Amino acid sequence: MLTFNNDIMGLQPSRSMAFMAKAKQMQATDPSVINLAGGEPDFDTPKKICDELFRQINSGYTHYTVGAGLPELRKRIAEKLADENGCNYSPDGVIVTPGGKFAIYLAVRTLVNPGDEVMYLEPAWVSYPSIIEASAAKPVPVRLSLEQNYKVTLEQLEKFVTDKTKILIINYPNNPTGKTLSKEEADALEQFMLRHPGVALIADEIYERIIFKGYSNISMASYPSIADRVITVNGFSKSVAMTGWRIGYLATTPEIKNAMYKLFQHTITCVSGFVQKAAVVALDCAEEIEAMRQSYEHRRDLFVGGLNAIDGVECNYPEGAFYAWVKFDIPGLDSEGVCDYILKEAKVVGVPGIAYGTDDSCVRFSFASSEEDLKQAVERIGAVMAKVKR
Ligand code: GLU
Repeated sequence: MLTFNNDIMGLQPSRSMAFMAKAKQMQATDPSVINLAGGEPDFDTPKKICDELFRQINSGYTHYTVGAGLPELRKRIAEKLADENGCNYSPDGVIVTPGGKFAIYLAVRTLVNPGDEVMYLEPAWVSYPSIIEASAAKPVPVRLSLEQNYKVTLEQLEKFVTDKTKILIINYPNNPTGKTLSKEEADALEQFMLRHPGVALIADEIYERIIFKGYSNISMASYPSIADRVITVNGFSKSVAMTGWRIGYLATTPEIKNAMYKLFQHTITCVSGFVQKAAVVALDCAEEIEAMRQSYEHRRDLFVGGLNAIDGVECNYPEGAFYAWVKFDIPGLDSEGVCDYILKEAKVVGVPGIAYGTDDSCVRFSFASSEEDLKQAVERIGAVMAKVKR
């Protein structure tokens, strides 16, 4: 009889992917269902990026590339990280990966041994614990509290660190809370890293170009004192609406990159060359990115403003990304119960807070959807919340 790897068999399904699939399935039989489950821009990829892809394919650019990524793309990525994020990475420390998710897996898998511990801040994107478990390491969630608006402090981090801690994963702007990293929090993270020289920091910055008025992004690799232990992960999915293209990257020191490349060359070989060529153009799309950002900001105001006007519904204005982390007051129901109620009664699909490890009676809704859908969703949620007895 065949047996399987225990670490892999123990993995939970990705809840965000499961809810995205469920919403699509429901929509197939009932088009009135509004899908706010998946974190996916509703924009098309900018035309000039698509044009470049076709140009490359038509000119026969369909072969393997240098494994870690095209030199011109890695150079542009290092320049982008220097110019926009204040990080000093060499192109030789960059690996172009099939999506940001694989970059995180590659980093974790390369840095841990069985039984090592990986800390991450909770609420957390659904895949961090599974990526850690798939690497035979132990996920250690650092619970942040809603009452303190999920502020990260040195004191809280210190409660969870042990001599087995190898990595801390952070994600700002945050999925699912929409929080950005404040200077005070970034300083606390620097302090933590200085106190623990054997720990690496994975900074998942996939939403870094989607930041709203009054806030800014802080890249931890811009702190020179710890930069050599910060692995910055980013990609093209969210900022330039390229989710289906599957292209992301990580940046680190050439030494750490070489360790990761040992695994990369035996698993991925390289990302499609024509996709990489198109990604070079994607790094030159400031105007398109800004137009999308403005649109998300407008939709945030519309959606969150509308929800906050409903009795029993509360949501902080997200500072970045395109998720609303919405708290519902429905007596007797936890986040799964609330999500189910909203799904069945209002036909609006979100993802329950517990999928991110912290219930808080919250549901995550993506507002990367049409204004019409968002208005409709607010109206329907208002109507079903009016029926709740409190
Ligand atoms: N990151 C997105 C989300 O949180 C897309 C799905 C996924 O890869 O998890 O919804």
